[in-house]
Amino acid sequence: MYDNVMKIEFASKSQNESFARVAVAAFASQLDPTIDELTDVKTAVSEAVTNSIIHGYENKDGTVKIEAYIKNRELTIIIYDDGRGIDNIELAMQPLYTSRSDLERSGMGFTVMESFMDGLKVESEKGKGTKIIMKKTFRAIS
Ligand code: ATP
Ligand code: MG
Repeated sequence: MYDNVMKIEFASKSQNESFARVAVAAFASQLDPTIDELTDVKTAVSEAVTNSIIHGYENKDGTVKIEAYIKNRELTIIIYDDGRGIDNIELAMQPLYTSRSDLERSGMGFTVMESFMDGLKVESEKGKGTKIIMKKTFRAIS
């Protein structure tokens, strides 16, 4: 069904944010992306992984999982955690909303993911975890 697939999981430590970003970028590189496309993907992955670590697991031990799928020119990235979950997804996705103003977060993570990717879906259940599904279609190769 898919042209290619990869799955990784890693400990919810901030040192792994750059690992996750680079791993997904390396997988995406087979689509021969532009620098801009690659930067968009890396930024979106960073935001989602950071959210799992600081909000999902509140900086405690946990596992973050990433799956990525390629079909034609479309990359689908799924990032999920088994953390605390989101109480109100609609509210959480609003620009500037943060539950952690004490940490000086700006509440722009979901807005960034939405603007850099072509599709964003958030599924979450309180006490169970959160799943972020993002899609991006890469430019046609001429
Ligand atoms: P910023 O990303 O700008 O540093 P932020 O992380 O608070 O700030 P968003 O990334 O937009 O902003 O997330 C909004 C809110 O959604 C968070 O404050 C948090 O309450 C909730 N949230 C996001 N991801 C998760 C997650 N994986 N688990 C639990 N809650 C989450
Ligand atoms: Mg965030």
